[in-house]
Amino acid sequence: MECGLFQGLRELRERNWRAFPVPATSIDAVLLSHAHLDHSGYAPRLVREGFAGPIYCSRGTAELLRIMLPDAAHLQEEEAEFRNRKRATRHQPALPLFTTADAAAALAQVTPVAFGEPLTPGRGIDATFHPSGHILGASIVDVALAGRRLVYSGDLGRYDVPVMKDPVPIAAADTLLIESTYGNREHPDDDGTDVIVRAVERAARRRGMLLMPAFAIGRTQDVLYLLRELEEAGRIPRVPVYLDTPMGVAATAAYEKHRDEHDAAARHVVARGGRPFMPATFQVTRSVDESKALNDVDGPAIIIAGSGMAAGGRILHHLRRRLADERTTVLFVGYQAVGTRGRLLRDGAREIRIFGEMVPVRAAIMVTDALSAHADRAEILRWLRGFRRPPRMTYAVHGEPPAAAALRDAIVKELGWRADVAADGARVEV
Ligand SMILES: [Zn+2]
Repeated sequence: MECGLFQGLRELRERNWRAFPVPATSIDAVLLSHAHLDHSGYAPRLVREGFAGPIYCSRGTAELLRIMLPDAAHLQEEEAEFRNRKRATRHQPALPLFTTADAAAALAQVTPVAFGEPLTPGRGIDATFHPSGHILGASIVDVALAGRRLVYSGDLGRYDVPVMKDPVPIAAADTLLIESTYGNREHPDDDGTDVIVRAVERAARRRGMLLMPAFAIGRTQDVLYLLRELEEAGRIPRVPVYLDTPMGVAATAAYEKHRDEHDAAARHVVARGGRPFMPATFQVTRSVDESKALNDVDGPAIIIAGSGMAAGGRILHHLRRRLADERTTVLFVGYQAVGTRGRLLRDGAREIRIFGEMVPVRAAIMVTDALSAHADRAEILRWLRGFRRPPRMTYAVHGEPPAAAALRDAIVKELGWRADVAADGARVEV
C-alpha cells in the first residue's frame, strides 16, 4: 500500500535510490491513497524494477497521476542531464530515478476504482476507497484481510473548507494508520479571505500586479474558487486573473470534471450555471511565449503560477520582472520550506537571487497560512472520534517525529486508545 518518493533534503532524497525492501516482482498490487508525489511518485520506479500488477486508486487520483507522473519523470531526466553536463555527480553517468517511459508504463497499470466500490487486490483481500477530502481523489484506504480490518487515513483533509467534502468518517478498524503532518499544530482561526481581499485591493489601488505562487494541484483551485466567491460577494474588484501554469490548467480541468467530490457549496455553484474555478475575467496561458507576454501586461491583474515556494517554475520570471516595482503585491498561500526563495521573501529579504541576478524587493509581501489541505491536530482528533469503537492499535505515520509523537500522546490521553508512532522498517501484525 502506498508508493511515495522521499522529498526535501538530499539525505532523504538519497533514500529513493536504496534497494526496495522486497523484490518488486513479488508485489501483487499497489493501492494509492492520492496523487501527491510523496504518496505516488515511486510507482514508476517500482514498475522499472519489474512490478507488473495493477495500481489501484480513485478516479480523481488516476486523472491527476496522468498529469503528475510524466512531469516528475521529466524533472528526473532534466536533473540527470544537468548533472552530467556540469559533471556535478558522484555517479558516472548520473541516471534518472525513472524515465518518461517508466511513467507511461506505470500509468498503463493504473486501475481507477469508484469511491465505495469494493475491489480485490489479492486473494482473500478486500479493499475500498473513501474520500478523505485532502485533494481531488484523495482516499482513506480500508483493507479487510482474514477477518481483520486495516484502515489507512491517507492524507486527511479539513472540515468546512471550500471545494472538497469533509473527510468521511470510518466506523471501525483493527489497525489504524493515521497521518500526523499537523499532529502538533492548529491552523489559524481565519479562512484566509481577509488577506486575499487586502492583497487584491492593494493591487487594484496601485494598478499593480498581484503575484500568487501556488502549487498546481489543490491550492491553485482553492485560490481560483475563493477569488470567484469574493468577486461575487462584492468583496474584491473584478480584475483579470491569469492562470500561468500548464499543470495547474490541467488540474483545474480535472477538478471541474469530478463534481461528485465537491462539497455542497461548490455543487450549488454548478447547479445555478456557474463555473466554480472561474473568476469573472479569466485567462489561461499555456505556451512559454504566452507566459512571457504577461511581462507586458499592465496591472491591476492577478497571476497565479508555480512553483508554490518560488523554487522554480514560471513564477520566477514574473518575480524577476516585478519584484522591484513597489506597485507589485506578492501573496504566498502555502507553506514555505527553509532555503526556498519563498521563505526568504516571507522572512523579509530585501533582495533575492533569480536566474543568477540579484533582484531588489520593493513589492509588498503578504502571507496566509489558512489554506492548508491537511487536517490539523483538532481535525484529526475530530475524525478519530467518528470511530464507534477504538481500533485495537493506532499508529501515527507521515509526520515529522515531534508531530507524530504529539499526536500519539493526544490519542492516548484524550481518546484513551492504544497508539504509537510507526517506526521506519517495523513489521506489525494487523
Ligand atoms: Zn498529500
